[in-house]
Amino acid sequence: MAARNRYRLLPSVDRILSDERVRALANGGEPGIATIIVRQAIESARLAIAGGSEAPTEDQLVESVLGLAGAAFEPSLRPVINATGVIIHTNLGRAPLSDDAIEAMAAVSRGYSNLEFELEAGERGSRYAHLESVLTRLTGAEAAIAVNNNASALLLTLSTLGHDGEIIISRGQAVEIGGGFRIPDVMAQSGARLVEVGTTNRTYLRDYEAAITEQTAAIMRVHASNFRIVGFTVAPSINELGSLSRKRGVLLIDDIGSGCLLDTTEFRLAPEPTVRESLETGAHLVLFSGDKLLGGPQAGVIVGRADLVAQLRRHPLARAVRMDKASIAGLTATLHHYLRGEALTKVPVWRMIATPLSEIERRARRWARAIGQGGRVLDGRSMIGGGSLPEESLPTRLLAIPGEGGYIAELALRLRMGDPPVIARIERDSLLLDPRTVQPEEDRDLITAVKTALEVA
Ligand SMILES: *Cc1c(COP(=O)(O)O)cnc(C)c1O
Repeated sequence: MAARNRYRLLPSVDRILSDERVRALANGGEPGIATIIVRQAIESARLAIAGGSEAPTEDQLVESVLGLAGAAFEPSLRPVINATGVIIHTNLGRAPLSDDAIEAMAAVSRGYSNLEFELEAGERGSRYAHLESVLTRLTGAEAAIAVNNNASALLLTLSTLGHDGEIIISRGQAVEIGGGFRIPDVMAQSGARLVEVGTTNRTYLRDYEAAITEQTAAIMRVHASNFRIVGFTVAPSINELGSLSRKRGVLLIDDIGSGCLLDTTEFRLAPEPTVRESLETGAHLVLFSGDKLLGGPQAGVIVGRADLVAQLRRHPLARAVRMDKASIAGLTATLHHYLRGEALTKVPVWRMIATPLSEIERRARRWARAIGQGGRVLDGRSMIGGGSLPEESLPTRLLAIPGEGGYIAELALRLRMGDPPVIARIERDSLLLDPRTVQPEEDRDLITAVKTALEVA
């Protein structure tokens, strides 16, 4: 039958709306939503017909309406089990939060709070006060402000200090961080003029020195957080840049990317710049994310000289990028774990980094036993991920389910479509599941999901 005639077989919107099952849908939900969903289903059917398919029967169309309605009434954002072994997985929501952080967020969200209220004086207060004391205590900085994320921290800093001035940056650091977020674009947006010095692989201190003029607003360093240039390379240390900035009286801004407050080398990982070190060696402002190695909610933190932080606070953009109360509560609770010296056991990102191999092995073996035949335990590597410690990994044990490509892809799809979805890694014709990034309380759900997927695959 010609496509033109097949379109005629499609029932009308009203006809589908009069179906008993669809009527039940219309009664419960937002008025009008049933009509929208029926139109959507008919439109998809028309597209399918245009693509050469047969017209669906009335019953099939009702089924697809019910399917679409099911999806429409459920939020699309939901928890997943991360079995990829990538600890800070940007696509999977970066850092999972500690119980204390979650409780603090829930507590200030449920009711009112003293977000901008001085309890003792009974007067208006500042939302910035809550984080400032814990941030300055932890980092030794004079002052601090936290905003929506590190991208907005950069935009605010450059707009405030670099507007109409020049910012000197190494060509090797004028990079794209990810998701199309490019340092040069943010600079352009802020009104600062970018002065690139050196080459992609080699920039010397004298390159920075030669670029300093009356127009210079600051020197900026950007930590190469998601790539590494190896081999024939030179970049001055933050120490050397600190000396130059003092000698020539220009500001030094350090975007260290990940907010690392602990020593990564204790876990045989490459050293990551720490906030304190950067401040001590001469950076006037240090910028970092709240949800990478810091292990808190999405945030961008700026710590450093009090007069500069005060300028940031007064800038109109500060209001546009301010943090909300739940994130302030969550970040504060996360930082308190560091103050109390319990980050390694309480902050999930660090707990995952610090989990002993024997513990991971024990869980991988338990998973293998629970799913029965088909799985075996292999050596592997977990990645830090998330624009922190590029290329850095930790030894781990994996549950591997071998099979040919099509079967493994099908298995991975079934796991992703399960409830809760489980995200695995595929490598060399094996499906790999890493216990390091699966929270122990998720073990039962993971085992059930794998068993179910194996049964039907
Ligand atoms: C991740 C990162 C950013 C962006 O931080 P968000 O918190 O994701 O906005 C900026 N600079 C560097 C060096 C980064 O690693």
